[in-house]
Amino acid sequence: MSDIQSYDVVVVGGGPSGSTVGGLLAKAGHRVLILERERFPRYHIGESLVTGMTPLLTELGLVEELDRRFQHKTGISLRWGSDPQPWRSDFSSASSVYSHAWHVTRSEFDELMLNNARSLGATVVEEAHVSEVTGAGTGTVTGLVYTHGGKKHQVTSRYVVDASGQARTVSRKTTSTQWQEDLRNVAVWGYFDTYTPIEHDQDILVEAVDGGGWFWGIPLSKDKLSLGFVLPAERLAQAVQQGRSQREVFLEGLAASNIAKTMVDPGDTPQEMNTARDWSHLSDTFYGPGWVAVGDSAAFIDPLFSSGIWLGTSGAWLAARALDSALADPAGEQHALQRFDAVYRQLFRDVLLYVRFFMDPSRLREEYMERAREITQMYTESSRVGFVSLISGIGAVADLVDFDPMGMDGLRDIMTERAQQAQARSADTAAAV
Ligand SMILES: Cc1cc2nc3c(=O)[nH]c(=O)nc-3n(C[C@H](O)[C@H](O)[C@H](O)COP(=O)(O)OP(=O)(O)OC[C@H]3O[C@@H](n4cnc5c(N)ncnc54)[C@H](O)[C@@H]3O)c2cc1C
Repeated sequence: MSDIQSYDVVVVGGGPSGSTVGGLLAKAGHRVLILERERFPRYHIGESLVTGMTPLLTELGLVEELDRRFQHKTGISLRWGSDPQPWRSDFSSASSVYSHAWHVTRSEFDELMLNNARSLGATVVEEAHVSEVTGAGTGTVTGLVYTHGGKKHQVTSRYVVDASGQARTVSRKTTSTQWQEDLRNVAVWGYFDTYTPIEHDQDILVEAVDGGGWFWGIPLSKDKLSLGFVLPAERLAQAVQQGRSQREVFLEGLAASNIAKTMVDPGDTPQEMNTARDWSHLSDTFYGPGWVAVGDSAAFIDPLFSSGIWLGTSGAWLAARALDSALADPAGEQHALQRFDAVYRQLFRDVLLYVRFFMDPSRLREEYMERAREITQMYTESSRVGFVSLISGIGAVADLVDFDPMGMDGLRDIMTERAQQAQARSADTAAAV
């Protein structure tokens, strides 16, 4: 061990969630270290954003840069439900202000976010692999050990933030997660240099396939389409066992599609396809003594509505404010982190509930819309608005922007908690007398 460093917060992982929480805490004046295993730019899947992210991207000062670099995304074009007619939803129908998101090349987007965290004051070390979480076994996380440049380094910190994505470097040691068996999927995808755009050429295509599974089509640029097939993990495993390649399974799915197959020439399908596990899960808690989890390390929901980065960075935004408050006033720590967990968990629950409902492709379009309106509790007659609000994240913007870990809402909770404690104490006293 070469040295011992000390920080207020150390973040494991420099993906979108880690760079958000790290950058915002550094901006608030805290000493922050972000440790990232890879050297950026590095490849990552998850290329389509939603408009619910724009308030945060505005806070981070990145909107103009995204507009300059990436393809605009105007909405979602679907072929889904009992009616075989394609349909679409436009982001602008939920908000005239946040009317477009972006389709991004992740290597570029993530590097932009990480460099932004640096410029906000965070210390970033790439090619730094976190191998030990100090104190995880005793119940209170106090820091970690990482390897960089062939040497081991030790860091102590008030908080460790787990933003390590599916690796769950800290949270796998400090909490359990609930794997959602009905959403145990896998994705097979590739990139096409030539393709025929769909009618609304800046939309993401989401298409249910006869026989099961669904396709995404993400127009990254005029000459790059990301095309992916999501199917139950068991089905792919069986096919591979029977000697079929992942490419063949992708092509079978493509042949069964109606729209995706009109976009590309199957002969252009790359020989080597990418695959990733796509298994939804939700951690029992997003925080504990000395640690907090955000992004995929906290929970992951099927990418049907491209919600992953929005959920991850929203949690990071909430966590930054909760940790800022806890660092300033340790007495309020429990309360701030409880509030963070409650608001963040609600976002995941809403999306999970809806993805599960939507995964049944035999319903009427009106049913999908109405269910979305119920979940978002929109005070509107328009289930169409409810649908776009939910799948774009716009419906949750007020909760995110207004989040105050110790605000009036928080005070109400504290008062209730204290009243309950006082009641319990007087009941104990009465019993003792
Ligand atoms: C098939 C598929 C399609 C998807 N499509 C979309 C989409 O269209 N839109 C969308 O928004 N989301 C999508 N997602 C989800 C999205 O990819 C994730 O939600 C998002 O990347 C989460 O960001 P994160 O910062 O939490 O984690 P990540 O982006 O995974 O970042 C975690 C970082 O931690 C680093 N790390 C891990 N372990 C260590 C360690 N021990 N030490 C140091 N560093 C470490 C990793 O190198 C990585 O850079 C998709 C996911 C899948 C599987």
